[in-house]
Amino acid sequence: MTSVSRRAVLKAGAATAAAFAAAPAIHSQGAANGPVGSVVDEQPFARLEVVGDGLWAVVSTPLNGDGQFANPQTLCNGGLILGDNEVVAIDGFFQPAGAAWLAEQSVKLTGKRPSKVIVTHFHLDHSGGLAGYQSGAIGPDIIMTDTTRKLVFENYTVGRPAEGSPFLQPAGRMMMPTQILPDDSGKTPLDIGGRVLTLDPLLGHTPSDIAVHVDNADVLYAGDLIWQGLFPNCTHAVMSALTKSCRALFDAGDNLIVTGHGGLARTAELDGAFMALLAAVEATARVSHRQGLSAADAAANFTLPEAVSDWGFFNPRYPELAMAAWYRELSNSSR
Ligand SMILES: [Zn+2]
Repeated sequence: MTSVSRRAVLKAGAATAAAFAAAPAIHSQGAANGPVGSVVDEQPFARLEVVGDGLWAVVSTPLNGDGQFANPQTLCNGGLILGDNEVVAIDGFFQPAGAAWLAEQSVKLTGKRPSKVIVTHFHLDHSGGLAGYQSGAIGPDIIMTDTTRKLVFENYTVGRPAEGSPFLQPAGRMMMPTQILPDDSGKTPLDIGGRVLTLDPLLGHTPSDIAVHVDNADVLYAGDLIWQGLFPNCTHAVMSALTKSCRALFDAGDNLIVTGHGGLARTAELDGAFMALLAAVEATARVSHRQGLSAADAAANFTLPEAVSDWGFFNPRYPELAMAAWYRELSNSSR
């Protein structure tokens, strides 16, 4: 599965680096997503909310009133988890300024900078800002799966011509992992003193995603496997695996879910709606594929199910990209 999926990613091409920047100009923030916990800091690009004892969530707010990506410092959601011994940050964000802000917040809230950061998957809006956690010679351990490491390297360390410069430029100031989770590791405990995190290697949003469970709290950091209020980006998705992974995460108990993008939501509020969205995409993709329609035509035939009818789109092409993701699987299986 993994090697086929990785080929699909490579075939999907270089779109990722510029996925956000190059998207059409009008975006929608989607359904209302106000804070669920008390807000400890608020910036134009994100807010930091308390979601439990020693647990915080970053909720990114990248769009301005005109639907432009005016504030892309963090771009994705993430968070901080405090143990007796250390602070773990969830995700690397889009720009170093985003991670630097979260590291400062960690010092304000806990007296410590993060000593570990878990990168949920390779996408640039989760990996491009990692350098911001560094302070002089000191920086956190950077944890990612081996497949995520390969995909960061292959997608974002390649130089591209830049006008007026003799140098080729990679997509970002990339940082490679200092702790690599083998792809076949299964659920992996991480003891941070007084609490144990479980790193849950899944796949579906990309060929390798990590969700993070917290043993003594009803909070789940889901990365981009789960979104709220926004149609998910399926550019590199393995759709059948995404459905399975999301089912498993929703079945993991009644949690407050820190999604990858959009708002936070409890399992009970989001389970039915998100699974209905995935099921509707699958149904349209299967019928359209059988009829020989293009992914674009399949997307044109697609309507949001009732439960998510007020959700928005970071990029209006996301339904088409989700259809294309299904088409990759359906074409492979009929061969
Ligand atoms: Zn992503």
